[in-house]
Amino acid sequence: TSNHLRHVESMSTLPSGAGPIPKLNALILGESLASEEDDLVLPSHDFSAQAHVSSPHKYLDMYKSSIEDPAGFWSGIASQFYWKHKWAHPVYSENLDIRKGRINIEWFKGGITNICYNCLDTIIAAGNGEKIAIYWEGNEPGVDASLTYNQLLHRVCQLANYLKDIGVRKGDAVLIYLPMLMELPIAMLACARIGAVHSVVFAGFSSESLVQRIMDCKPKIVITCNAVQRGSKTIHLKDIVDTALTHSSLSGATVDVCLTYENESALKKENTKWVEGRDTWWQDVVPKYPATCDVEWVDAEDPLFLLYTSGSTGKPKGVLHTTGGYMVYTATTFKYAFDYKQSDIYWCTADCGWITGHSYVTYGPLLNGATVVVFEGAPNYPDFGRCWDIVDKYKVSIFYTAPTLVRSLMREGDEHVTRYSRKSLRVLGSVGEPINPSAWRWFFNLVGDSRCPISDTWWQTETGGFMITPLPGAWPQKPGSATFPFFGVQPVIVDEKGAELEGECSGYLCVKGSWPGAFRTLYGDHERYETTYFSAFPGYYFSGDGCSRDKDGYHWLTGRVDDVINVSGHRIGTAEVESALVAHPHCAEAAVVGVEHEVKGQGIYAFVTLVEGVPYSDDLRKSLIMTVRKQIGAFAAPDRIHWAPGLPKTRSGKIMRRILRKIASRQLDELGDISTLADPAVVDQLIALADC
Ligand code: ATP
Ligand code: MG
Repeated sequence: TSNHLRHVESMSTLPSGAGPIPKLNALILGESLASEEDDLVLPSHDFSAQAHVSSPHKYLDMYKSSIEDPAGFWSGIASQFYWKHKWAHPVYSENLDIRKGRINIEWFKGGITNICYNCLDTIIAAGNGEKIAIYWEGNEPGVDASLTYNQLLHRVCQLANYLKDIGVRKGDAVLIYLPMLMELPIAMLACARIGAVHSVVFAGFSSESLVQRIMDCKPKIVITCNAVQRGSKTIHLKDIVDTALTHSSLSGATVDVCLTYENESALKKENTKWVEGRDTWWQDVVPKYPATCDVEWVDAEDPLFLLYTSGSTGKPKGVLHTTGGYMVYTATTFKYAFDYKQSDIYWCTADCGWITGHSYVTYGPLLNGATVVVFEGAPNYPDFGRCWDIVDKYKVSIFYTAPTLVRSLMREGDEHVTRYSRKSLRVLGSVGEPINPSAWRWFFNLVGDSRCPISDTWWQTETGGFMITPLPGAWPQKPGSATFPFFGVQPVIVDEKGAELEGECSGYLCVKGSWPGAFRTLYGDHERYETTYFSAFPGYYFSGDGCSRDKDGYHWLTGRVDDVINVSGHRIGTAEVESALVAHPHCAEAAVVGVEHEVKGQGIYAFVTLVEGVPYSDDLRKSLIMTVRKQIGAFAAPDRIHWAPGLPKTRSGKIMRRILRKIASRQLDELGDISTLADPAVVDQLIALADC
């Protein structure tokens, strides 16, 4: 059909019957699946037949047991990992109700393990030492490298021994400021091996952001490299670190050691600024250390890492994850949400500076013994076909990326995609923002040749791993919906008063109960943890996101709740209006915010980026508004269209609506902190175009 839908089995052939998990019943009650067929994208027979979870009822069986007996469910899975000593009873304990006292979550407490050991040593012990762990693809095509599991362990141990030698101990913080070199996951794993707590800071952050983080976690050592080539630009990372270390030292946090990797292709040693006594070249010291290193056995609840959120809504929060639950959760979500098999080659385009790079470049895949592609460069260098070039080169079978990348590639034309084979692809994934249905369809139809299911994974830095996600092969997808909860996750949608809404509904997305990957605190500020996440709706974890559930029980993320717009009493999610705009053939990207409106309470103000080569005109403006009227209704028609050659985005590529709201309401002196923006110049450009 026109939508390239694959029809396999009619939903009505699935068994019916009311189970104890009523919200998911639509999935097995074939007759009640209310959607038009065209909204559904069904997995192919072949895919489902080989999938870990091959049907809705298999999922429901597992899901039910995960909810009814979380301890039994998770201890069964956790037993597949290596534990020096098994955890004590109970498997978990929690207080998620602020009215009952301190918020406290613990999983597998008393269990003694090490996540690095489970990522490397156990994989090698199972006979996979010669399997490729990492394919590294440099910024320049043709520059590449790889490491087997044996080699990776060897490199990790050398660095771990070095860290121990300079006095890094269990519980000490290590700050890592590296680009996507193999040394980045190596550094994370080396910390984990010795029980040190890593804090990776995305190597696109400014020295001020670095100072903030150094002051917060007081690391013993900073691990960085001298420079990196991104696209055609050279970025002098070491200079940024130098500035940060000078400032933080003046403010009372002195870092003793700056271990610097010489990234020779970007900058030679001789041309790197150096502080004698503090700075050490990685290549001079690390290779001299022994290639084996005993692991530091840690408690499941010992901290593994500290990571700051991407800062879309304000000042980043220092999210703390511990070892055991995080390990079990990232490995399990990775396996099921991507239907991972030992023969897969996996590539996630996220940087290890973000949670996605922690859970799904490093830990989740390696815990499964996967082969991971790590890419140093930019998706538009040397041209917009780079991603597919890499997919073909390494025969990537699982490709996980963000809507911002999908939209930017979509804007450049299909020929960049179609000139590559992409035959190896079998599963696609998306994370970071709601994926607009039109972007979803392009990704599905063009990139995946209508063959590969898309796992649209909703989760957060705070949740550690996937929360709401398709299991490819298990059920039909709806473009733009993250579908159903992962095992053990109980999403609830509540109204303003915190009352749980049933059936078809829309409101605030919360989670009931805990799951192993949940964060345990905000570093150094447990009170902020409690007020930010557990106070708005007592008894639940509040995600900050809005969500609606349709007749079939599918979940649709509508954006952050601060972004919900109330037009004449209609609550409109920004995501919905944006998706309608992006469905217009000339609109590449859209960001919608609410502005004060005399009559309607709030009006809709839309920033739009156009497809390459399309000029902005009054006719186009009208046709964009028309598109929204047709797709959603007249009440959602934008009051104002603002042409935006570029949008303010965080360094992880998310649109920062907070700033757009200020521009829309012309409160230009209240733009607030724009230091987490990828390109602050975009703001001035937008202000200049405000009255076009
Ligand atoms: P901050 O918390 O500092 O404002 P952030 O929320 O952008 O930053 P992250 O933890 O990286 O930091 O992002 C999580 C958020 O990203 C979610 O709360 C949600 O708004 C959005 N998100 C992630 N994945 C999806 C998805 N598949 N669909 C819709 N939204 C998503
Ligand atoms: Mg957030």
